[in-house]
Amino acid sequence: MTLLTPNSPTAELQALDAAHHLHPFTHGAGLAEKGARVVTRAEGCWLTDSDGNRILDGMAGLWCVNIGYGRSELADAAHRQMLELPFYNTFFQTTHVPALNLAAKLAELAPGDLNHVFFASSGSEANDTNLRLVRTYWQEKGQPERQVVISRWNAYHGSSVGSGSLGGMKGMHAQGGMPIPGIHHIDQPNWWSEGGYATPEAFGLERAQALETAILEIGPEKVAAFIAEPIQGAGGVIVPPETYWPEIQRIAKKYGILLIVDEVICGFGRTGNWFGSQTYDIQPDIMTVAKGLSSGYQPIGASIVTDDVAKVIENTEFNHGYTYSGHPVACAVALENLRILEEEGIVDRVRDETGPYLKERFESLADHPLVGEVKIVGMMGSLALTPDKVTRAPFAEPGTAGLICRERCFANNLIMRHVYDRMVISPPLVISKDEIDTLVERARKSLDEALEQLK
Ligand code: PLP
Repeated sequence: MTLLTPNSPTAELQALDAAHHLHPFTHGAGLAEKGARVVTRAEGCWLTDSDGNRILDGMAGLWCVNIGYGRSELADAAHRQMLELPFYNTFFQTTHVPALNLAAKLAELAPGDLNHVFFASSGSEANDTNLRLVRTYWQEKGQPERQVVISRWNAYHGSSVGSGSLGGMKGMHAQGGMPIPGIHHIDQPNWWSEGGYATPEAFGLERAQALETAILEIGPEKVAAFIAEPIQGAGGVIVPPETYWPEIQRIAKKYGILLIVDEVICGFGRTGNWFGSQTYDIQPDIMTVAKGLSSGYQPIGASIVTDDVAKVIENTEFNHGYTYSGHPVACAVALENLRILEEEGIVDRVRDETGPYLKERFESLADHPLVGEVKIVGMMGSLALTPDKVTRAPFAEPGTAGLICRERCFANNLIMRHVYDRMVISPPLVISKDEIDTLVERARKSLDEALEQLK
């Protein structure tokens, strides 16, 4: 066959795509009707599609291109590594230089005594590892009945059977036999949608205390761990009330359960610190990382664990691993990405300069008739759309307003995502103040057009 190129006509690219490519999280009918948008190139915060449109990427790909597109240093690192050692595994008492360097670098960056790293190729794989890790940990500690992992509804921890079960997406659970046994879900700290007449502070406490209730119902001797994202990302950028995390931390300590903090989105600067755990003063036993670890230039994820967890796991042979655990090219690219994040002061800039600027500009959308709540921490934010700001009422057909708004964003060459009726942003961390202005202007225009369409 003749391969198509980025310069091939859009219709041809779309037809070949629709004929053979099954897409994640995509309805076939939409593809057949309109075809996929074909992204051909990217630079900085900007995508180019096959029609030559320049699109501002308000989502950093899938929350991952933290340093922005087009950094040749990462391509050079991959090239060098492919020539030197394109692959070797890390099984059976073997290692290589990129993996050992990256593990040590992550130990240096991660807070507290999170000093040991188990590699994977994605966040889903890393969370599968975590599920097996925490259960093995308790087995090795002589408490094999501690097997239940508590998670939250509307959490996202990945798409494999294990990580999808840990997640609390009901649409995912409806397909393919999830959740697997031994996972228990509690309610999320989403004040806007579920807080009723409680203050956010009281509601945050109440939702954290749901963890204690669940532990007591299940029996503390049966609970292995609690897993949560510092801020739920794919759930719609649900920023928890300030009271939430301190109470979760207290409860986890009280019952001695392991705390798995899923930093796949929040990690590597997104919340204005290296990790969301620092933003919320959480002390994880295990941290899941992926996405921003390589800024999406290579598929890589990891579980970073404390000295205590590592000591227990190293007491046995952990019969677990992936061919690409610690892939040398992915590790070399991740190291280069971390060097850039660090040396260019990108995380500090998000915390001190561009983050506060984005907050101010994004919050200015609160006066829009469609916008109820505006939430933003660092470089992740969301707008809750509502027909009634006072009662926080949902739309009669949840998701429709969000979908219309997202389509208007596309038409205005801005990528924003919708989660039902929450409009979400998570731009590259290198976004400039001018680009932030463009993002907010295009978002407002899209909201205006959505409002017209909803009338
Ligand atoms: N955990 C969180 C918080 C995520 O947002 C995601 C992906 O969006 C994952 C895990 C799964 O990561 P991956 O898609 O790399 O498997």
